[in-house]
Amino acid sequence: MEKKQKIIVIGAGPVGSLAALYAANRGDDVEIYELRSDLRDPSTTPLNFTKSINLALSERGINAMRHAGQPRLIEHVMGATIPMRGRMIHGRRANGDLYEESQEYDVYGRSILAIDRGGLNKRLLDILEEMPNVTFFFSHKLSGADFRKNKAWFEVREIKGANQEPRAREVEVDFDLMIGADGAHSAVRYHLMKYTRMDYQQVYIDTMWCEFQIQPKTTAADASLNSKFLISPNHLHIWPGKEFMFIAIPSDDGSFTCTLFAPAGLYEQLESDPIGSLIPPFFDKHFPGVTSLIPSAELIASFHGNPHLPLISIKCKPHHYGSSAVIVGDAAHAMVPFYGQGMNAGLEDVRILFDILDKHARMDELSAGADKAASRERALAEYTAVRVPDAHAINDLALQNYVEMRASVLSPVYRLRKFLEEALSKYLPSLGWQTKYARVSFGNERYSEVVARSEHQGNMLVRGFVGLVGVPVLAGGIFLMLRYKRAVDVGLRAAFGSVDSMVELMTMN
Ligand code: FAD
Repeated sequence: MEKKQKIIVIGAGPVGSLAALYAANRGDDVEIYELRSDLRDPSTTPLNFTKSINLALSERGINAMRHAGQPRLIEHVMGATIPMRGRMIHGRRANGDLYEESQEYDVYGRSILAIDRGGLNKRLLDILEEMPNVTFFFSHKLSGADFRKNKAWFEVREIKGANQEPRAREVEVDFDLMIGADGAHSAVRYHLMKYTRMDYQQVYIDTMWCEFQIQPKTTAADASLNSKFLISPNHLHIWPGKEFMFIAIPSDDGSFTCTLFAPAGLYEQLESDPIGSLIPPFFDKHFPGVTSLIPSAELIASFHGNPHLPLISIKCKPHHYGSSAVIVGDAAHAMVPFYGQGMNAGLEDVRILFDILDKHARMDELSAGADKAASRERALAEYTAVRVPDAHAINDLALQNYVEMRASVLSPVYRLRKFLEEALSKYLPSLGWQTKYARVSFGNERYSEVVARSEHQGNMLVRGFVGLVGVPVLAGGIFLMLRYKRAVDVGLRAAFGSVDSMVELMTMN
């Protein structure tokens, strides 16, 4: 009988869990090793101490889950999400009045979905638990790996009795393939670097983040209009602030999880005042309306009580070694959160990785006695070749989108381009025109192609604009020149000696 492959997945976050599901569906023996204890265990530290509570899920993530062969997963996703059809921009007019302005994400009405990170992760673990070929190893920290001998070592933390210090022991594990989904500070990536000439780039941007909550409506009077939400649940709310930004994403219970993104220096200034008296006036000045949604005492308590966390952007290449290791998700391409694509891209990695593994497995089945490791080595090499340019592209887009979210959303040029592109997409669909946001969030086109197409569209718009505005201006200029030829000629001769010498001057290198 053919020997089953043993796949070990490091990290039981959303990306590792989905990778385990894909591997288990293929009949391999799957083991999942996770540093933390079981997320579903009530004594486990909640994720929101280190991770954002809710996320924007979009087409790429949904598509990857759609192909996981588990309809229950998609049912959960569709049942436990809130559609957000656009950004709601909050501001204050010159006369002091507050305003809200909805900017729809998509001319066809498509939405991104707000989802609870913990809920999604738990659902994935529940489904995996029912699979006979999957075994979990919680509280196992990857501490070493030999990718030539296919061996890994884990530190296991055990608490033997009450009031006892946890004791660590080491276990050794064999594997055919290790999938590293152990997040931005990946141990798999660290060990991979010893085996392959990995190019690696890590940047901390000068922005920290901290979470706040808008509570649901509480009193009967508050809960009028049958809504438990204080602001529209179908938007991602943004208070743009040029140098900083405050956002709010809806949760099922009527609350909103809000995030303050601001430079480290500003955090230091606000931290310097222990009683927090600077915080409410800061919010009132820069994020109009927030102080009526979050009482001052709660703003201060959240700012001082919740962690202030950095944002990292990582690019590396390759994403694999031989036939024995591959990294996916944040381990391969942690990105800043401003395109809402980090997890989506990680889930998409899984779909693409297994598509390529399957393709090579099918090709090699055609040749009798095919060596599975050799087939996998070819597949992993192809995976790196395909995925690295896309990972780099979405990393860059995410960095650029910070400027868009905190400042460009207010700019007339940004709005004009959005309007033109959406009009072209809607009224001339044969042109295949789409906004960059729609391509990233509502499609599955490669990220690198999205960038190329968006640049092409930008160039076409500029040419069109020059055509529309530039041609009449040029024609007007020629008309004036012909009409007042003598006067122009005299003027130019005075300046340049002769028209010929002026032409020469203009064409000189
Ligand atoms: P992680 O979620 O980091 O999981 C890694 C797992 O590996 C963890 O469980 C960890 O305990 C475990 N681990 C680590 N080291 C070891 C070890 N040595 N041994 C064993 N296990 C280990 N993405 C979106 O798509 N949409 C959004 O709207 C969005 N918003 C965000 C907002 C903020 C503020 C931030 C910071 C990120 C946001 N992201 C968003 C990004 C998203 O959170 C990440 O891309 C996603 O969590 C990555 O998933 P992952 O499974 O790759 O890694």
